[in-house]
Amino acid sequence: MPDRRTLLKSLPAIDRLLEHPQLKDSGEAIPYILLREAAQLTVASLRRQLLDTSAPLPDLTLDSVAVETIQCARRLASPSLCKVINVTGTLLHTNLGRAPLCASALNAIDQIARGYSNLEYDLARGERGKRFSHVEQLLCRLTGGEAATVVNNNAGAVLLCLAALAGGRSALVSRGEMIEIGGSFRIPEVMAAGNVRLVEVGTTNKTHLRDYLDHFDDQTALVLKVHTSNYRVVGFTESVGAAQLAELAHQHGIPVLEDLGSGLLIDLTPYGLPREPTVRESLASGVDVVTFSGDKLLGGPQAGLIVGQREIVDIIRKHPMARALRIDKLTLAALEATLSHYLDPNQALREIPTLTMLTVPAEQLQQRCELLLPRLKEACGDAASFAIVASSATVGGGALPLTELPGSAIAVAPRLLSTNRLCQNLRNCSPPVIGRVQDDRLLIDPRTLPPEDEQPLIGAVSHSLQGDRP
Ligand SMILES: *Cc1c(COP(=O)(O)O)cnc(C)c1O
Repeated sequence: MPDRRTLLKSLPAIDRLLEHPQLKDSGEAIPYILLREAAQLTVASLRRQLLDTSAPLPDLTLDSVAVETIQCARRLASPSLCKVINVTGTLLHTNLGRAPLCASALNAIDQIARGYSNLEYDLARGERGKRFSHVEQLLCRLTGGEAATVVNNNAGAVLLCLAALAGGRSALVSRGEMIEIGGSFRIPEVMAAGNVRLVEVGTTNKTHLRDYLDHFDDQTALVLKVHTSNYRVVGFTESVGAAQLAELAHQHGIPVLEDLGSGLLIDLTPYGLPREPTVRESLASGVDVVTFSGDKLLGGPQAGLIVGQREIVDIIRKHPMARALRIDKLTLAALEATLSHYLDPNQALREIPTLTMLTVPAEQLQQRCELLLPRLKEACGDAASFAIVASSATVGGGALPLTELPGSAIAVAPRLLSTNRLCQNLRNCSPPVIGRVQDDRLLIDPRTLPPEDEQPLIGAVSHSLQGDRP
């Protein structure tokens, strides 16, 4: 039995390891700096293994250490941000990048990214132009607004509007709308960051018109209405509708800002989805300016859209924070392409993946499961049992929180390893696969699975079921 401490002396020196043909002429374009780091990491890990008396003795031959080093170097060289296959059934998974883009948005990004563009150049006049001009008319057509601008995301849009319209003064918000969106986006904190004094009105479950009325004073600059997009207050509740609130605020010469969160441009009730106010409805009810996200139900890139009255949008655009939150050209290209589809709602439903996945009929999902099932069984043999089960998908991204989208999924019960281990193996695949666990089975929900990812998914599942994958 060799002494572990003596074996430490046989660990290869880094320079000698780097001279090994596996590393020197690997034929792979791995930068030297990563090979060196990989060699150091590998030797350090072997040293730890030698010193840990409970660990098995590692193979210390130069060849085997070189192989481990090259594997480590490959991991270091592979991109950190990568495509994943989402079979969780959650359409707008914030952790998985929210909305996939439509084909024309991808084309637009490709065109604009490759070269120069008229981003801030007015071609008719041959002089400096405005970047938001590329989507302003489109947004106005789609919402009935007079003017529009766009920023980096909706959190930024809300912050900017608050700072521009009520900075140094106060804004009224119902206690029933004091939301947290996630991360550190909480209405009271965003108000503070915008230097706006928050005046809470009403109670958690009930806010009446007179609650707002009681709080107007000479410091009041704004009424903020927030769509409670990620939760619902149910039971003994009351809130003031946008129209009533706008009428009251306007009598006092105060504008109303509504943060719609997801912001729908078309009504989705014909597809069995709950009623949500569209941006057009909010503006038509008298709200002066509306903010919403580009990458929630709209199905576009991450962006914060601001639409409303011309004078108000002008004030917002001129605030210094507007420059700090400005949208980049690739996002703008994708946004214009996505919004264009909405000029014909049927085209939007057909072309925008988020809307397609949201409205796909349950029978179609059942059919897809029926076609996937035999292919999975054939690829995986006895390594698991498979069954088609009812599955309810969710929208995610803080939109339509109570909505369950009925559909079907394939439940996978592994035989050779635990479900957790299966999920871990799937996350290690290339591309990684992210599923959902229910009743100790892995659910594969086809709603969020593009057809071209079916084959890689089947490969990943069959590979991951074998048990001893790192
Ligand atoms: C999601 C959401 C936000 C934040 O939007 P992002 O686009 O994620 O920045 C703000 N307000 C409401 C009501 C939301 O639902």
